[in-house]
Amino acid sequence: MPSQSKDLYLPRPAEIREVIEENSQIKTFALSFIDREYQDRFSYAPGQFLMVSVPHCGEAPISVSSTPVSGGAIHLSVRRAGRLTAAMHGMRKGDVVGLRGPYGRPFPMAELAGRDLLFVAGGIGLAPLRSVINTCLAAGHGRRITILYGSRTPSDIAFKADLTSWGETANVSCLLTVDRAEPGWQGEVGLVTALLAQCRLEPDDAKALLCGPPMMIRAVLAELAERGFADEDIITTMERHMKCGVGICRHCHMDDKLVCRDGPVFTLQELKQLKVMELLG
Ligand SMILES: Cc1cc2nc3c(=O)[nH]c(=O)nc-3n(C[C@H](O)[C@H](O)[C@H](O)COP(=O)(O)OP(=O)(O)OC[C@H]3O[C@@H](n4cnc5c(N)ncnc54)[C@H](O)[C@@H]3O)c2cc1C
Repeated sequence: MPSQSKDLYLPRPAEIREVIEENSQIKTFALSFIDREYQDRFSYAPGQFLMVSVPHCGEAPISVSSTPVSGGAIHLSVRRAGRLTAAMHGMRKGDVVGLRGPYGRPFPMAELAGRDLLFVAGGIGLAPLRSVINTCLAAGHGRRITILYGSRTPSDIAFKADLTSWGETANVSCLLTVDRAEPGWQGEVGLVTALLAQCRLEPDDAKALLCGPPMMIRAVLAELAERGFADEDIITTMERHMKCGVGICRHCHMDDKLVCRDGPVFTLQELKQLKVMELLG
């Protein structure tokens, strides 16, 4: 149980340093805490999230999409969904939001070292995986990295700068697909699972990390099982509506697990012990 100190729910003001328009629905905000000393001490791990608030517009969990670098800007990639995220989309450089966290169990970074890595993402799902991928690359991950990314249309492809840079990295292969082509698109059209067929994978020596809509996760899980991936080598994130973010209100429960405290990162082995698997199929 987390400590219930009086400032547990107190957000700290953070200033927007830069706004990057990823597509018409997603913006990445580079933020730093106004308290410089706090900013310099602040740390997080890939897969963790922050509770983000805007006065009168509410609070929501958002994954950190940047690489943890001491004192570096904190990136939050936000898809416009409702009141809070729409308010954020109206904000500019110099505006201030509230942040508390980081919360949640991160990706098992130590276990990823020395393994081939397969990342499968759909839409905004690339946000937390971007943090993992860039952290692995910054640490000199020498094994093969395969990134499969699905978007609705070519205009919906987010994180284009990262995708380009990953595509140019020696041990990385990056494959994109869209649900619907647009004029000029010469790439793949179809589900992200179709890209799996093009990949050389050695399941005994690889870990797969997935993040995206439940329909995509369901299809990819089935495909990975067929390819021989063990349940403990498949890692995904779960999304649930949250209130406290710190394991008190139980709003985000899945059986006896809480997404905010026990997740949002889970292995397939862990999810199979929960009723939530019925939702994933
Ligand atoms: C761990 C975690 C990490 C996340 N990371 C990101 C991220 O990196 N980027 C990102 O863009 N999003 C992320 N999300 C999702 C984000 O928190 C939600 O989209 C959030 O609801 C947006 O807040 P809002 O006020 O803008 O929209 P809301 O007002 O919350 O509405 C969003 C949608 O949810 C529906 N809704 C609202 N309340 C409920 C409820 N109680 N039950 C069911 N449906 C409801 C609304 O009808 C609407 O369709 C993450 C969620 C979790 C749990």
